[in-house]
Amino acid sequence: MSDDLDSIDVPGPGSAAAVDQGCLCPVLINGPSTPANQLLTAPDCPMHTERLEPR
Ligand SMILES: [Zn+2]
Repeated sequence: MSDDLDSIDVPGPGSAAAVDQGCLCPVLINGPSTPANQLLTAPDCPMHTERLEPR
């Protein structure tokens, strides 16, 4: 597996693995070659919104 996300055990936004776990992020925009800092997350994604906006 990749070590790119060593501090995060959640699949990248829009990835097939993430979608399979309930990710609602845009799949068409977040391609496998999309840089991490350009990945888009959906405001209602339960997987990624939670981490990006801790409160
Ligand atoms: Zn997501």
